[in-house]
Amino acid sequence: MVDYVITPPPVPAVPVRGGGLFPVRRIFCVGRNYAAHAREMGHDPDRDPPFFFTKPADAILTGGAEMPYPAATQDLHHEVELVVALGSGGANVDVADAKALVWGYAAGLDMTRRDLQGEAKKLGRPWDMGKGFDFSAPIGDLVAAADLGRKYGSDGHIVLNVNGEERQEGDIADMIWSIPEVIAALSRLVRLAPGDLIFTGTPEGVAAVKPGDELEGLVSGLPPVKTRIAG
Ligand code: MN
Repeated sequence: MVDYVITPPPVPAVPVRGGGLFPVRRIFCVGRNYAAHAREMGHDPDRDPPFFFTKPADAILTGGAEMPYPAATQDLHHEVELVVALGSGGANVDVADAKALVWGYAAGLDMTRRDLQGEAKKLGRPWDMGKGFDFSAPIGDLVAAADLGRKYGSDGHIVLNVNGEERQEGDIADMIWSIPEVIAALSRLVRLAPGDLIFTGTPEGVAAVKPGDELEGLVSGLPPVKTRIAG
């Protein structure tokens, strides 16, 4: 019997299609991984190497639950992304070995308080409060990589609809850094571990949402990620 001085928090987990739960250890996110989105944010996609930020593991929002409109923002943005879930870990992973770490894939939303992120950029401050707030990572059910085929993740349509209207549209093939390259690069910064999620970046068309909006993110071959922004 361990003497925890408070009740340990529950393990955040993502439902898996067909049953079971995937326990989440950490959430890593890639910045500017589609050229057109890098350009819309005012950056040169040819020059910027991949970079990462994080969200708390308990930022996930599953099962199509409502997302409370977060505090301290007037500019809540959607970013639809392919999410990679790691079933094993490692450091200094080679690109050729990286896909072996992947347990499965999901569609996710990297919800962003764009005004706070913009202020942080301007002042040279951390992005945490723009990106890593409560319920900032809605995610659809995970699908095991074994059910998707070896080539999954190299291309595929990615779309975000708001109230049934298309806002973002792209193809996974347009990622600047491929999934194996992202895993390899991240594994040179931290030792990756089972349970880690990686949000792999968003195509162009990010924009604001308001209370009452219905969001639906679609990634080829995966269950949709859905949420409604609560008032
Ligand atoms: Mn993002």
